[in-house]
Amino acid sequence: MMNRTDKFKSTIRSAVCTPRNRLLNYLDPPVLVLLYHRVTSLLYDPEMLAVTPDNFRSQMLFLKKTFPVVRFEENWAKVPKPAIAITFDDGYADNFLEALPILEEVGVPATFFVSTGTIGTSKEFWWHELERLILEKQDTPLSFTLEDDRCGRVWPSGDLKERQEFYQGIVQLMTNADAAQRDNWLAQLRRWASAEDAIANTHRAMTIEELRQLSRSNGVTIGAHTVTHTQLSSLPPDKQREEIVASKKQLEAWLDREVTTFSYPFGKRCHYTSETVTLCREAGFTKVAANFPGQAHRWTDTHQTPRHLIRNWPIETFTEKLRGFWTR
Ligand SMILES: [Zn+2]
Repeated sequence: MMNRTDKFKSTIRSAVCTPRNRLLNYLDPPVLVLLYHRVTSLLYDPEMLAVTPDNFRSQMLFLKKTFPVVRFEENWAKVPKPAIAITFDDGYADNFLEALPILEEVGVPATFFVSTGTIGTSKEFWWHELERLILEKQDTPLSFTLEDDRCGRVWPSGDLKERQEFYQGIVQLMTNADAAQRDNWLAQLRRWASAEDAIANTHRAMTIEELRQLSRSNGVTIGAHTVTHTQLSSLPPDKQREEIVASKKQLEAWLDREVTTFSYPFGKRCHYTSETVTLCREAGFTKVAANFPGQAHRWTDTHQTPRHLIRNWPIETFTEKLRGFWTR
């Protein structure tokens, strides 16, 4: 929900930005990069990451008939514009099982940024385990005490409203944590919920073989997305370098080809630093994707390429949103 101040700010922003961006688009038609995570049908999707196969197919068909769809890693100075590039983050199994057949059927290219730590482990990403433990399980205690020297606290968890607040609070905390801390907190939560370290098959990442098959498709490019999907700005530079370089090397070993693109986990400006950008250049990435709205012009920093997050929109909403994305 937007409060009145936010609404006012947003009105002012669009009053200033829309004419400015229109002028910039006139001077240099841009590439618009779209960000997807999942293509599948889920009963429960609190992070709103999944687009149904039907909506995804309609979106791809519309893009294919309306714009040049270019590859993320291409030199955009040389492509007809305005153009669209399609990207996916994280490496869910449904990228291979459900998105790829539609991309191939429609004939549009896409780049998949993959976190290597979950590939081939059958593990779900930590945010899905939180959903399962906190929001879906009904028979848990009335409160949860997080044991941690710095971040320890108690959340009531008696009813749905409390659980939702608990879930939002701990997601926030875990976004700022490193992998070891997160694993420790998840173990505490599993004990609290008397849950096994179970795998929800609907939320798993690709197997190595699925990733290999995905990468062999003509229109597909694989990019890196760290090992453990940790917010890079919360890590010291040597740990950041490890996450960035190790994910690139692992993908290159699995796929036997050079990996030249990367996307920042979470991807907002607060989730990485100027050091992160330098580390990515040093690691040999030629283009890097962020996760804030904007248009990619010839003067846009190639190592902080803006992207627009796509939700499970039916085609009417999608086309309307897309119109706004050219100037937002
Ligand atoms: Zn991600």
